[in-house]
Amino acid sequence: MSTVSRSTFDQVMVPNYAPAAVIPVRGRGSRLWDQNDREYVDLAGGIAVTSLGHAHPKLVAALTEQAGKLWHLSNVMTNEPALQLAQRLTSLTFAERVYLCNSGAEANEAAFKLVRRWGSTLFGAHKHTIVAFDNAFHGRTLFTVSVGGQAKYTQGFEPLPGGIVHVPFNDLAALEAVMNDGVCAVVMEPIQGEGGVTPATQEFARGVRALCDKHQALLVYDEVQTGNGRTGKLFAYEHYGVTPDVLTTAKGMGGGFPVGAMLTTAKIAEALAFGTHGSTYGGNPLAGAVADAVLEEISKPELLANVEARSQQLRAGLEVLAQRHGLFGAPRGMGLLLGAPLVESWNGRAKDIVNAGLAEGLWMLVAGPNVLRFAPALNITEADVVEGLARLDRACAALARQG
Ligand SMILES: *Cc1c(COP(=O)(O)O)cnc(C)c1O
Repeated sequence: MSTVSRSTFDQVMVPNYAPAAVIPVRGRGSRLWDQNDREYVDLAGGIAVTSLGHAHPKLVAALTEQAGKLWHLSNVMTNEPALQLAQRLTSLTFAERVYLCNSGAEANEAAFKLVRRWGSTLFGAHKHTIVAFDNAFHGRTLFTVSVGGQAKYTQGFEPLPGGIVHVPFNDLAALEAVMNDGVCAVVMEPIQGEGGVTPATQEFARGVRALCDKHQALLVYDEVQTGNGRTGKLFAYEHYGVTPDVLTTAKGMGGGFPVGAMLTTAKIAEALAFGTHGSTYGGNPLAGAVADAVLEEISKPELLANVEARSQQLRAGLEVLAQRHGLFGAPRGMGLLLGAPLVESWNGRAKDIVNAGLAEGLWMLVAGPNVLRFAPALNITEADVVEGLARLDRACAALARQG
């Protein structure tokens, strides 16, 4: 038996998390097993991270092969896996230059520093305002919580960095009202993930691009959650017919290995000249090897087709359960990032549904207190979705009985 359990957490960890009552110890595909060998269907995907499921043979091979060769050099030397990854990213996207790091927050921190430096270098110190959206989530460093649009993540951490303005999401008139030549960038998630799985409308996405062009501001897409095949295209910007100037990604990019990236054009990248930014671990060979293997799998048409097929299956199943139990309404989102908003009488109880799911052997997520979120592996099978929905059906029935 293991010498650690869930109660150990409260004895040795900082209390910033409230993890579930059970501890998973191994996984395979979209299934997990806990310390008592109880099995779960995984519709959470480690919060949109385990993009190819658990213990994918190709990723295990990529990691172990690199682990036997070289782990770390630092950026005073470059390395082959990082260069191969950057080559693949530039060949598959609008981008011409890549900055590698270890998380979503770091990718955004780099992006926000880039747009500030771009503004001050090309136009002068006055061009420094970053416009972002209410309910946005961009990470947990001080700069990224400040650009994020949720007060609960900044409270008690003041004073916050200045020069940041927030307006309502999907409200073009509100954005237009704050745009001026002092704005260096507008930052948006194409689908607000943590904020409740709220997609930008087509009209809004195009309008934001046009306003950025009009005021010579950069458009930053935070695709930390929506990137790497999550929405059925490699990156969500492809759905909108809008090309950002800067794109950040992480989460699904490493399939569970910590890695993040900021992508941009050659011209804009010049603002991060030698010595202006950096990271000790960013672009290390292990992360490079794993992320390159992830991207190779994810960019295959069969994989993206599975995202679309499983999305339709999951959506249809959730709609049936929405009707049957009356706890949540029809799901929104794209691909395998779906959110089911709770009906009003169940508001605030998304966590209760997640816990009822766990009791039935199912992992799900919340996106705020009022939205049930699903972000399973992109290669999840039809059978696993069927089983996950069956367990959710039982969980909802049990909850509805309890009231
Ligand atoms: C998760 C997330 C982040 C933060 O990523 P970390 O790896 O936790 O730092 C930033 N932006 C979005 C849109 C996210 O979903």
